[in-house]
Amino acid sequence: MIGAGKVVNLAYTLTNSEGDVLDQSDHADPFMYMHGADQIVPGLEAALVGLKAGDKKKVTVEPAEGYGEINDELKLVVKRSQFPADAEIEEGMQFETQTPDGQGVIFTVEIIEEDQVHIDGNHPLAGETLHFDVEVLSVRDVTEEEKAHGHAHGGDGHKH
Ligand code: ZN
Repeated sequence: MIGAGKVVNLAYTLTNSEGDVLDQSDHADPFMYMHGADQIVPGLEAALVGLKAGDKKKVTVEPAEGYGEINDELKLVVKRSQFPADAEIEEGMQFETQTPDGQGVIFTVEIIEEDQVHIDGNHPLAGETLHFDVEVLSVRDVTEEEKAHGHAHGGDGHKH
């Protein structure tokens, strides 16, 4: 059964409230994660507890339990001169920067207007209610090596 100390393979389809498919993983290319390691959104992780291989479940995750609410403070306008002179800046590109408290935040360039660049540090799925249609393909114990590394190995997981 899914719970702490398990590695889980899932097939899933993620749609938004409009029914657009945002992400999916099928039987041929399943998604693998280590339960309890903050590798999937909290609302989905909580809903999977107790399921076993072969189980199917539809899970609706509100933004607060998904990728968070939209934070307007992460929508910024900066001067182009704040980027390195040789940086090619394009709408849609992403870059990582550090907040004063040392946290890494990934910003997306939204709009470029002459000398001004509008950037957004919200997760692309912030504010979205997430609809997961999940099938559990396998559940196994975490190995000692995986426990030490903090992530799952093999299959579609982490490779060294
Ligand atoms: Zn590893």
